[in-house]
Amino acid sequence: TLTTARYVFDFAEGSMDQKDLLGGKGANLAEMTRLGLPVPPGFTIGTTACRAYLENGDLPPGVADEITEHLGRLEATMGRRLGDPADPLLLSVRSGAKFSMPGMMETILDIGLTDASVQGLAKHSGDDHFAWDSYRRLLQMYARTVLDVPDELLQAAVSTEYAQWGVGTPEELPAEAIERACTALKRAIADYAGRPFPQDPLEQLDLAVRAVLRSWSTERARLYRRQEHIADDLGTAVNVMAMVFGNRGSDSGTGVAFTRDPASGATGVYGDYLQNAQGEDVVAGVRNTVPLAQLAAIDPVSDVELRTAMSTLERHYRDLCDIEFTIERGRLWILQTRVGKRTAAAAFRIAVQLVDEGLITLDEALLRVNGAQLGQLMFPRFGEDHDVPVVAHGVAASPGAAVGIAAFDSAAARRFWDEGLQVILVRRETNPDDLPGMLASVGILTTRGGKTSHAAVVARGLGKTCVCGVDTLTVDPVARRAVTSDGVVIEEGDMLSLDGLAGVVYRGEVPVVASPVVEYFEGRLELSKSDDLVRAVDRLLRHADARRVLGVHANADTPADADRARRFGAGGIGLCRTEHMFLGERRKLVERLVLADGAAEQEAALEDLLQLQRADFVGIFRAMAGLPVTVRLIDPPLHEFLPDLTDLSVRVAVGRATDAPDPEAERLLTAVQRMHESNPMLGLRGVRLGIVIPGLFAMQTRAIAEAAAAVTAEGLEVYPEIMVPLVAGEAELRLVRNEIESVLADVAASTGCVVATRIGAMIEVPRAALGAERIARSADFFSFGTNDLTQLTWAFSRDDVEASIFPRYLDAGIFAVSPFESLDVEGVGRLVGIAVAEGRKGNPDLVIGVCGEHGGDPASIAFFAGAGLDYVSCSPYRIPIARLEAGRAAV
Ligand code: ADP
Ligand code: MG
Ligand code: MG
Repeated sequence: TLTTARYVFDFAEGSMDQKDLLGGKGANLAEMTRLGLPVPPGFTIGTTACRAYLENGDLPPGVADEITEHLGRLEATMGRRLGDPADPLLLSVRSGAKFSMPGMMETILDIGLTDASVQGLAKHSGDDHFAWDSYRRLLQMYARTVLDVPDELLQAAVSTEYAQWGVGTPEELPAEAIERACTALKRAIADYAGRPFPQDPLEQLDLAVRAVLRSWSTERARLYRRQEHIADDLGTAVNVMAMVFGNRGSDSGTGVAFTRDPASGATGVYGDYLQNAQGEDVVAGVRNTVPLAQLAAIDPVSDVELRTAMSTLERHYRDLCDIEFTIERGRLWILQTRVGKRTAAAAFRIAVQLVDEGLITLDEALLRVNGAQLGQLMFPRFGEDHDVPVVAHGVAASPGAAVGIAAFDSAAARRFWDEGLQVILVRRETNPDDLPGMLASVGILTTRGGKTSHAAVVARGLGKTCVCGVDTLTVDPVARRAVTSDGVVIEEGDMLSLDGLAGVVYRGEVPVVASPVVEYFEGRLELSKSDDLVRAVDRLLRHADARRVLGVHANADTPADADRARRFGAGGIGLCRTEHMFLGERRKLVERLVLADGAAEQEAALEDLLQLQRADFVGIFRAMAGLPVTVRLIDPPLHEFLPDLTDLSVRVAVGRATDAPDPEAERLLTAVQRMHESNPMLGLRGVRLGIVIPGLFAMQTRAIAEAAAAVTAEGLEVYPEIMVPLVAGEAELRLVRNEIESVLADVAASTGCVVATRIGAMIEVPRAALGAERIARSADFFSFGTNDLTQLTWAFSRDDVEASIFPRYLDAGIFAVSPFESLDVEGVGRLVGIAVAEGRKGNPDLVIGVCGEHGGDPASIAFFAGAGLDYVSCSPYRIPIARLEAGRAAV
């Protein structure tokens, strides 16, 4: 391991395990150097330097000396001096954080070129065009990244030459024209910055290093980190390496390669290559690349060498690798590798392929996929049966079926998104500034660039549909329209459909069908008739089931939901809410219950509700025969089932004013006013309802018990569990438990059927977590209601804060993710830990689960598994996700 007493490390010193210190890029460059792959030599300034820079606004003392020392060694190795006027060594200065942030930070190439050394480079290489083109690139990159010179000024400096020579790219200019462009660029720089472009190569290097460090903190980098949940204080490493040149003519070039298809996961090498090009030309998608397959024809020797390197890397990393390479006059150089990003489908396919190839175990395969990816595969896709016209084809860059209206820039996309519309962002190409618009869109369409373009990479990372390189489409962002080569016009606001799996663009709204994975889960698709993706998902889920200790139950309120949950692999129902059983037609019965004049009328109302509830439970118990069903007694305040206070007041007022009083409305209004609470969330609800309204819980218990007896009589096994919501202390639970037990005994006596029924408490009030030991003495089980527990722990009213407060909180980094999305481990998680420990002290047989929405959230599931819960319960569609995550938590 490397010492942290130093800041700078040679590539030959590090390894791939040192991403914390060397960043991902640096660690992998070191690893490839160790593997003997052709990596240009260089050194890495560790992230510790960046962290110090972030804290103090300057590099720590000593870093400069270390850089000088390593540079000296690099110069000796290369036999050339940085910026030597006769034969200059040139350097690239590259960002590289622990977690890859593609295109978010800066890299500067060709450091070391000056008015003098450009002549030396020209002379030594015998290629004026190449030398001036490299200088032009340095000036542009330096201006942009070190000085923040606006693009327009830089464009203006070269466009005069374009116009004069009638060309569109700098590569097409003759050397003397590029030389003039360089003069114009230097003038633009001096005008803008108030001082000339530095002619001292060491000063260039120093400023470039600082610019890379600063690029960690740009707005777009922060936004990306927030999106990807990457901590803001990790900092980036800086890699300084000898330049190699892909821009030395047609026997040179640069490219990106993947060892498998990152979109589909199909085997076989895959990528893009661009002749006579340097650096970002490929990734930026500015010029049209050729598929990597054509390299064999262009440069067979380098092609074989590249394929060998690719297979070495894939076997070494035991995973899909993506590689950046450059060929300089027939000589291959590898400039970067990393374990490649991939789509969800590719992740599942590749994980299983690698198992079959003997490279990884099934346990490892389980760790190569995750619940979020499985969630993406469960999204619907386009159906075949429609006549929406195809208007263009492009590169299938990120799968999915996106339907939305066209927006031609980021601002428009945000605007539509604010209005609640689905948006397709249409651009020539995207750059990091388009990120806000990409986040606001369901799909991204670009007319240039391949699968490795910025748009494609970012879209895959975000799980958004993307079709790129749609070169038959011409976009005019100023006029806010696009035209196909056949003359079809797409205006802003027009409906588009993007098929990210096939790379097809439709003008109009294509109907969407279910995913084959869901079809399979639902039993409508046989495994033998499905493709390898469904088989891969099935295989990994089975392995997860075999591994996991954590049970997965469903939140399901109806027989239909229960049925789906079962097919998706639920081991029971962890939360059956009874509220919907009071809605619709049945509202009237609640009104009667609330308005009842005396016990007789109240009992009659309860009796009617009993009949209906019993029928509901019968349906659910049948669907879940053999598995536990946890029924939560009524939770929300009763007034939620009554008419709206304002509507009623109006009705009453109108009746009175028109001399046609409405006695029913008057009576209801009195009741609604009586039950009105200024803060219902903290009022008469949950266990409190059962204690205050006599007969309510008894009626529900009777409905459950009688239904259980009836279904048992049909010969089915029933395991009902009765869950009491909003319990805060043992006395509440004990009181309600006594009532429940006496009803159970009563029903057992009258039906002659004893159904073992567990009684437990929902733990959703901080007081309950803190008093768990005593509550557990009266409980057979606990189930954490983490939604309320989060609300009450943070004092957040979810309905109010999510729109008004959270965007700002997330912006300000107060939390990285909403505590309603992922469990707040530090606060709410602590309460969970206390309740588990104390609860088991009070009752060693206590069964503990969670039924809040966090039960389906991958990060939270890992926490619950670690906290020793018995099961999580989540909505039916999240069950496969939870099964997978529970399996991952167990390996
Ligand atoms: P990013 O992290 O955005 O991919 P990189 O640091 O990888 O940025 O740099 C972008 C591109 O610059 C690389 O893909 C490579 O083509 C080019 N590049 C970087 N270093 C060198 C080098 N030493 N010689 C030639 N090209 C280089
Ligand atoms: Mg790169
Ligand atoms: Mg609750």
